[in-house]
Amino acid sequence: MTVHDVFKQRKPNMLSALKCFKATGVSQALRRNFVSRGTCLKNNIFLMGSPGSGKTTVGRLLGDRLGKRVIDVDNDHLESYWNMSVADKLQQVGGDQFLQDEGEALLNLRAEDSIISLSGSNPMHPAAMEHIQRTGMVIFLDVQHDNIVDRLERMKVNRIVGQGRGVPMIDILKYRQQFYEGNYDLRILCEDGETQESIADKIVKSLGEFKSPPHRYTSTRSNLGKGSAENHKSFCDVVLEGLAPDKGLYIRNGAFPKFTPGELQRLLPLSYQERALRILEKWIHPDDLHPRLLGNMINNAYSLSSFNCHKVFPLVHLRGNQYLMELFHGPTASFKDAALQLMPQFFQHSLDTKEDSNTRYLILVATSGDTGGAVLDGFAKHAGPRVGVMVLYPNQGISPIQKLQMTSMTGDRVSVVGVESDFDFCQSTVKKIISNPDMADKLLESFGCKLSAANSINWGRLLPQTVYHITAYLDLVQTSGIKMGEMVDLCIPTGNFGNILTAFYAREMGVPIHRLILASNVNNILTEFFTTGRYNLRNQHLRQTISPAIDILKSSNLERFLYHMTDGDFDQIKEWYSQLDKDGHFTVPTELVNKMQDIIKVDWCSEEDCKSAMRDTFQETGYLLDPHTAVGKVIADRFNQGDRPVVIASTAHYGKFAQDVYSAINKDDGRLDLNPAELFEELGARHPRPAMHWTLGNVVEKAPVHRTVCGADVREIEQELEKFVEKCWR
Ligand SMILES: *Cc1c(COP(=O)(O)O)cnc(C)c1O
Repeated sequence: MTVHDVFKQRKPNMLSALKCFKATGVSQALRRNFVSRGTCLKNNIFLMGSPGSGKTTVGRLLGDRLGKRVIDVDNDHLESYWNMSVADKLQQVGGDQFLQDEGEALLNLRAEDSIISLSGSNPMHPAAMEHIQRTGMVIFLDVQHDNIVDRLERMKVNRIVGQGRGVPMIDILKYRQQFYEGNYDLRILCEDGETQESIADKIVKSLGEFKSPPHRYTSTRSNLGKGSAENHKSFCDVVLEGLAPDKGLYIRNGAFPKFTPGELQRLLPLSYQERALRILEKWIHPDDLHPRLLGNMINNAYSLSSFNCHKVFPLVHLRGNQYLMELFHGPTASFKDAALQLMPQFFQHSLDTKEDSNTRYLILVATSGDTGGAVLDGFAKHAGPRVGVMVLYPNQGISPIQKLQMTSMTGDRVSVVGVESDFDFCQSTVKKIISNPDMADKLLESFGCKLSAANSINWGRLLPQTVYHITAYLDLVQTSGIKMGEMVDLCIPTGNFGNILTAFYAREMGVPIHRLILASNVNNILTEFFTTGRYNLRNQHLRQTISPAIDILKSSNLERFLYHMTDGDFDQIKEWYSQLDKDGHFTVPTELVNKMQDIIKVDWCSEEDCKSAMRDTFQETGYLLDPHTAVGKVIADRFNQGDRPVVIASTAHYGKFAQDVYSAINKDDGRLDLNPAELFEELGARHPRPAMHWTLGNVVEKAPVHRTVCGADVREIEQELEKFVEKCWR
């Protein structure tokens, strides 16, 4: 047992400890001193965590397993450095000064290639922590607080450094958490009662996964990572680029990160933001985006000013075994906000770290109605003046409120352009323009501007969505009485296959998701594909429906799914997709169809069924579904089996589609010439659940400021783009 945690002296309370670490006069000097000595080898492994989290024992186990020297800061460094016992030191100088002295001692620790167990209070000294971060990787043993309290009781430790008299142990542990949270490179989520052997195993495994160099990203169509070093792509590269140079989509190399049931259990009591950090940090290497920054970005993205709901994406019970995850509480009322409040921060971070300070980026976006608004809001809030946004929307293919949401958007570097065609045309135009080398040269030469995409073809756009599928499961465990580990189904109205792909990622991460139910409207090309293996665009015409966000035939992210299903057979993917480009179809082998069917169930829904679902659900439960969610509900009903709960992704707020929702629930009512504000009033008078969305009321009062509409002509759109870039950065 480390002695200094046991001090008996009456000294600092939590506040004075905080003051002490903020008084950085000394540490500044020490910091400069240290920097001038040059950088050390960053090859140590530091173990950090509360007293009683097992750092010393785990350190010894790790030393054995990795064949490295083991240093325990308390026992091996402090006592010899001070020439007195830690308890005596504490007695002599008191708690505040102790933290300073301890930090200074740590600054003078010289070690290489060692496993070093920090004291529980080391992280409260900022300069010392900076020093250790430069000389090694910091691993945080994140142990449940009540486990620690139990362990400390068993060790007869009743007070730790910084704990004032009368302050319960659990409170000081909670207070200490912030110092650990801000200082780790790698978190080890320890399970309830997990043994130290098991924790050491986990660390060895995670170190294997996280060893430098960081994860690389490759294209679904060729193995970029295996080429020369310059072909290696980092997280930041792929966020900036969007689409791979070979027109494939970026994928992270290596196995999917996993959660054990015990680790998922640890996520239960946490907030959405805290869960998001623990999920996303498993995907993103700390050298690409440090968890400290990632945590800040998450808090920024999912603040109450952007999501008008404490739970961010609450799970609500609909009826029987059906639940809805309400994904529409963000600023633009669709699930697209989930990714687009975070992704622009990834983008800005990547811009700041990868590019010289003059490079500009134009984000080119194709929208089926909801992405556009979400991109405009997210980039306006979270990206700087070097980023502009241009949105292409199908002029006839979106709802009046969706259109107004985008065309009323003001801002210096914003362009919103209607196209006299459908979403598929807009999306393929974006891909064409982005991969047109002449355009790239011209923009770079004249304006120092590069192009990128913020559709779900961008990896940074997809990743944040993984989080809510996991939190929906956790919320279900918390509220519905199912036990951790019991299976659920997720049902997802699908267009571009982004949302359902991230549900697949959640499943691969170890979340007990039995089946993914893919729901389409009459644009049902995916039903044929998952049934027969044939993806056939020939003689297919996109049909306009009342669920326009899924009026899509070319589902981009299906390519990523096929990549995973073929275990990364990029040659095969490339062949299929060039055939699709050339001949308009491809067919995958039967074994693959079977493999896909084990995971994905698929069906489609007619317009009439969609309308009835809105009407019936409203009559029976008082809940008003948006048309996309209604498509999900129809298909979920068809696959409903036994008691297994099904969570339907409620992808948009009904207010965005007020007209169609209104006419669906008033079957015989002819008053369809109502304007949006009147529609909102009429709908409100029926007192539906959920309430009207908090931003849409303002939108309907606005006037459009963007009025440009282009023909279905790539050249015309390119000219519009050039004009816009010139206006932004002349
Ligand atoms: C974008 C969107 C979808 C489709 O999501 P994908 O990720 O493209 O499959 C479904 N519903 C709504 C309301 C949307 O905005």
